[in-house]
Amino acid sequence: MSLHWTFGAVPRHVGARDQCETDGLPDTMDIETLSKKILTGDRRALSRAITLIESSRADHRDQAVHLIERLKDAQRQAIRIGLSGTPGVGKSTFIESFGKMLTAQGLRVAVLAVDPSSARSGGSILGDKTRMEELSRDPNAFIRPSPAQSHLGGVARRTREAVTVCEAAGFDVVLIETVGVGQSETVVAEMSDLFILLIAPAGGDELQGVKRGIMEIADIILINKADGDLKPAATRTCSDYAGALRLLRKRPQDPADFPKAMMVSALERDGLQKAWDEMTALTTWRRENGHFDARREAQARYWFQQEVRQGLMAQLDTPEARARMQDFAEKVAAGDITPTVAAQELLQGLGD
Ligand code: GDP
Repeated sequence: MSLHWTFGAVPRHVGARDQCETDGLPDTMDIETLSKKILTGDRRALSRAITLIESSRADHRDQAVHLIERLKDAQRQAIRIGLSGTPGVGKSTFIESFGKMLTAQGLRVAVLAVDPSSARSGGSILGDKTRMEELSRDPNAFIRPSPAQSHLGGVARRTREAVTVCEAAGFDVVLIETVGVGQSETVVAEMSDLFILLIAPAGGDELQGVKRGIMEIADIILINKADGDLKPAATRTCSDYAGALRLLRKRPQDPADFPKAMMVSALERDGLQKAWDEMTALTTWRRENGHFDARREAQARYWFQQEVRQGLMAQLDTPEARARMQDFAEKVAAGDITPTVAAQELLQGLGD
């Protein structure tokens, strides 16, 4: 396989989004040089690598796969923290404050996003860097908005690959942000070592319709906005969640007091150090007890299976496959062939 890619005139069949995606990539680039630069922590190289990863052009995809293979050998490991919460709960304020606190401690922080709505809105709502103004200017931070993709599966793959490139670039903490919509939490949890759910103080005693499934994947629930007039409500909400968490099945892989609920104020930068201490305590505990590696292994298996599924779906999505599907559907409808046999024949013929 060639180590170079060239990219001159954009082929006519490539849409506007694809052109936009490849903006910033040089005409020729050497994957070996790129990977070396990434390993030295070069942010420009990191940015380029992620642009390459996000490109849907087949040649770029090959190069991206090759790059990731090379970087794998670096065996660097960040703490990957998934962070979810509904719009307005304070995610960007939290990331800004929390990120600044970590960089002040000498840690390097990368922020990535999985934004299931970006396909619909045509641009990422998590992509607005002005939301994290201070952090985006911090030389020890790297912020990357969610890639524009039509499928959550595509966003997931690209974000997961971007995480590994950030790790190779020597980041200590990778924050993966998502809005609490649909399947995106599960996707983010499957690429994170820790999963943090951000909640706003509630007026009533209801648990804000937070689904049990999300509670089950959260390691720490942070009640944000625990300041000023909202403090009493935050305190009540926090004890509601602490109570709800106690009712969940205990996880054998965690210390007895996890998952836990805590209060923070992202705006006043209060409680953030305590939250970080809990995150590192849990991570250390999992590392010492083998659960950290076991989780990453399980995640690798999961993503392998997802890739196989997506690969098969892609094979069904070609014009030839669709035409064959249509043919078989007609025959099945006419009673010439049973659905079972038709499906078997179609699947056997895939990739021919
Ligand atoms: P996101 O949509 O989840 O990213 O939420 P933002 O970070 O944009 O915050 C939404 C609103 O909540 C903004 O007006 C913030 O100033 C406010 N906010 C965020 N964190 C806090 C906090 O800790 N306390 C208070 N009182 N307001 C906050």
